[in-house]
Amino acid sequence: MVPCSHVDQVRLLEPPSEIAGCEECLKIGGRWLHLRMCQSCGKIGCCDSSPNRHASRHAREAGHPILRSVEPGESWSWCVIDEVAFVLRSGEE
Ligand SMILES: [Zn+2]
Ligand SMILES: [Zn+2]
Ligand SMILES: [Zn+2]
Repeated sequence: MVPCSHVDQVRLLEPPSEIAGCEECLKIGGRWLHLRMCQSCGKIGCCDSSPNRHASRHAREAGHPILRSVEPGESWSWCVIDEVAFVLRSGEE
């Protein structure tokens, strides 16, 4: 069981094969450390260790609770509301 009531809002499990970077940082010329993907709409944003924290800001503003790491080799997700990390698997595995 996952201690998060929002997993049914996840629609996008896999990140795109090519990611240019944080969408908002690219617009403003900002810098980011790590990238996260919104699992409701697929928006790419930067992590909470980045100066602008676009991923969690988007999650709160858009009401999209779950972010996934799109760093190479990382597949964990994070719910910004429950503040819990977990790994979601697509049924194929
Ligand atoms: Zn949750
Ligand atoms: Zn950013
Ligand atoms: Zn979103």
